[in-house]
Amino acid sequence: MNGKTVMACIEAAHATLKEHTDEIAALDQQIGDGDHIFNLLRGVDALLAMRADIEAKAFAPALDLAASKLLSTVGGSSGPLFFSLLHGMAQASGNHADALSVDGVARIFAAGVDAVAQRGKAGIGSKTMMDVLIPVASRLAELADSEEPPEAVLDALPQVAEASMLATRDMLATKGRASFLGERSRGHIDPGARSSQLMIGAVCARLAQDRA
Ligand code: ADP
Ligand code: MG
Repeated sequence: MNGKTVMACIEAAHATLKEHTDEIAALDQQIGDGDHIFNLLRGVDALLAMRADIEAKAFAPALDLAASKLLSTVGGSSGPLFFSLLHGMAQASGNHADALSVDGVARIFAAGVDAVAQRGKAGIGSKTMMDVLIPVASRLAELADSEEPPEAVLDALPQVAEASMLATRDMLATKGRASFLGERSRGHIDPGARSSQLMIGAVCARLAQDRA
């Protein structure tokens, strides 16, 4: 994996976010302030504009470059959280990320998710993006432990992400802006859970396609 892999993942994330912009905007209008998808697209558009710089780098520096750009462009609560995810992953990647095993990716992703947890102080059940990120990281670690081949992992994770995203609908929000609504936050999918799930699904599909 290298800067080109990172850029391919960014492209995949961008395509799905564009396709679901109205839907995610509506979710954040229901339990937030409506800006989540626009914050995120501002960041991802900025990443697309620096394609050559990202593609020229090795895996960890490319992730780190993308992380800093997201920090300076996304804003909202989610900007620093997406920064933490990519920066945490970069820190765990080290210098030998060109030929990563499932186990290696599992460790790197888990480190990224830990960094988000430290920043946002949300665990499972608070109705945030963590309700997608944590189950995906856990399942990825299990699949790595049972030595599943990459194709099976890339097929399984989008399903975990989708079920986890749907489960946020009935949760009571206890973190972020949606928590101000109390019981009225129930019955709506969390926008950050939806955007994270869509990006995970798109990235897995893209990585699977590039392997085929
Ligand atoms: P803001 O709430 O500042 O407008 P955004 O609209 O960019 O921020 O992002 C909202 C999303 O951020 C939520 O849908 C939720 O998934 C996520 N979020 C909010 N607070 C936290 C937190 N403490 N930890 C993890 N995710 C959070
Ligand atoms: Mg918002």
